[in-house]
Amino acid sequence: MKMPEQGRAWQDIQSDMIKRGAGDAKWRDGRTAVYVFNAGEEIAAIQKEAYAAFMSENGLGPLAFPSLAQMEKDVISMGLGLLHGPEGSTGAMTSGGTDSITMAIKTARDFARADGRARERSNIVLPQSAHLAFDKAAHLMDIEVRRVALKTDGTFEADSSAMGEACDDDTIMMVGSAPNFPHGIIDPIEALGEIAKQKGVWLHVDACVGGYFAPFARMNGVPVPAFDFDVPAVHSMSADLHKYGYAAKGASTVLFRSEELFKHMPFDMNQWSGAPMKTPTLAGTRPGGAISAAWAVMNHLGIEGYKRLQGQVCATRERVEEGVKRLGFEVLGNPMLGLIAFRHPDHHAFAIYGEIYRRGWFTSVTKEPPSLHLMLSPKHADFIEEYLADLEASLRAVEASADAEKLKVEARYS
Ligand SMILES: *Cc1c(COP(=O)(O)O)cnc(C)c1O
Repeated sequence: MKMPEQGRAWQDIQSDMIKRGAGDAKWRDGRTAVYVFNAGEEIAAIQKEAYAAFMSENGLGPLAFPSLAQMEKDVISMGLGLLHGPEGSTGAMTSGGTDSITMAIKTARDFARADGRARERSNIVLPQSAHLAFDKAAHLMDIEVRRVALKTDGTFEADSSAMGEACDDDTIMMVGSAPNFPHGIIDPIEALGEIAKQKGVWLHVDACVGGYFAPFARMNGVPVPAFDFDVPAVHSMSADLHKYGYAAKGASTVLFRSEELFKHMPFDMNQWSGAPMKTPTLAGTRPGGAISAAWAVMNHLGIEGYKRLQGQVCATRERVEEGVKRLGFEVLGNPMLGLIAFRHPDHHAFAIYGEIYRRGWFTSVTKEPPSLHLMLSPKHADFIEEYLADLEASLRAVEASADAEKLKVEARYS
C-alpha cells in the first residue's frame, strides 16, 4: 500500500477494516483455542472502555499521571496478594509475557554480576517445555540456554535433579513453569526450589499462563501444588494479565520476592543530552490503557468473578478430557488448569489437526510429542460439544484415509 495522497472518511475506513477482519479466525464463535481469551461481551466492553479512558496517557510519566502509577501499584499488589508475595515483595507491569521474562532474566543477570566475579558467559537452565521467550531474551543478552529433557514417567514435568546437574558457577537462573504452554502441566516447583537452594541459583517461575488462574482453581478445590512465592526459593515470577487475567492485550506482571532483587531491574541513566530517565522495564512509552484496563477488569471481576470464570474453564477442560478419551485419545500428563494436549495412539495428531482446521477450528499443536493442543476460555463452555463432534469427524476422516492407504499398499504387494 502506498500512503494515499488524500485521506478518506473514518466511516469508509471503518467499513474497510470490518471487511478485512472477515477472513480472520472465528474466535467470537468459540472456534479459536489459541491467541484469544474470551470471557464474554461484558468483560470485552469493560476492557475497551477502561482502555480508552487512559489510552492517551503514558505510563512512562508517573509524576504526570499519578493515576496510572497508583493503578499499576494496585495491580502489582493484587497479583502479589494472589501469589503469596511476602512482605517487601514488589514488581512492575510489562507489555506481555516475553517482556516479563526478558526483564526477569536481565534482573537475575545483574543481580549475579553484583557479586563482582568475572564470568565468561552466563547461562540459564530450563526444562525443555519452557517457553521460547527465554531463548529470545537469552539471545538478546548473549546468555547460554541449557534446555534439560523432561521426566520420562509420562508426567511431562521438569526433571529437577537433571536440571540441578546442568547448573554450574555461571548459572544465573533456573526456571519452572506453572504451567508450561506445550502440555499445560505445572512443574514440581518445590523440588526445583530444593535444588535451586542447594545450588544457590535464582529460581524463576513462569506463570505467564497460570499466574492468574491457578490461585482461583485452588480456591475452587483443584489440588494445585505449591508453585508461587510460597516456595521460599522462588525469586521471581512472570504472570500475564492479558491471558487468564482477562485484561486487554499488552499487560503482564513481573514480580520479585524483595526490593533487593527488584532493584536490579530498572534502567536509570542521565549520561545523554536529554532529561534523566528511569524506566522499570524494557519499554519507554507505556500505554496507559493497558494499565487501566487491567485495573478495571480485576476490580470488576474480583475474587468471586475469577473463581466463577476459572471454574467454567476447568469444567470445560474436564468435558474435553472425557470427550477425547472416549474417542481413544490419550491426554498428556495431568492438566489442572485451562490448557490440555492430547494424542491418538494410531493416528498422527497433525493429520487430525489438518482435518479439524478444515472444519473451521483454529486451535494449536504441541510438537513433543505430536499432539493437539487447546487453550480454553470461559466462552468455550458453549461450543465444546460442537468441537468434540468435529474432532470425531476429523478422526474418522483420518481413519478412512489410513484405511484407503492400507488397501492400496496391500493391493500393490498381493
Ligand atoms: C504466553 C506465554 C509466554 C509469553 O507471553 P507473551 O505475552 O505471548 O509474550 C511465556 N510463557 C508461557 C508459559 C506462556 O504461556
